[in-house]
Amino acid sequence: MARIFNHARKSTLALRQRKGFLLQQLRVPADVLRASVVERFSTCGKAQCHCHHGGSKHGPFYYLTQCLAVGKINKFLLKTPAQQQAAQAGIEHYRQLQAQLEELSQINAQLLRRGEPLAGE
Ligand SMILES: [Zn+2]
Repeated sequence: MARIFNHARKSTLALRQRKGFLLQQLRVPADVLRASVVERFSTCGKAQCHCHHGGSKHGPFYYLTQCLAVGKINKFLLKTPAQQQAAQAGIEHYRQLQAQLEELSQINAQLLRRGEPLAGE
């Protein structure tokens, strides 16, 4: 769910200033990544292994999951700590970018409601 900004009570000038600030801040990080990282423990293929006999399972393993459409998920193992860190950083950058876009979008909706132009000021 998107964060709801309380823009309705702000002056049009304040909204325009905030919008200008957001537009200045906005840039797309090269590593931006819309995905999740999930942690999994699993059993192995060896029947004699402790993991099949009440012992601890193997892991943790970290998988990147990316929902492409309903029921269509891109999922693969992040094999190295470097991959895991790169994934986490890219996901965080995506989250920040999305939050900025969401606020900008809500400001634009409020400006539109007031009959203000949205572009070219
Ligand atoms: Zn095992």
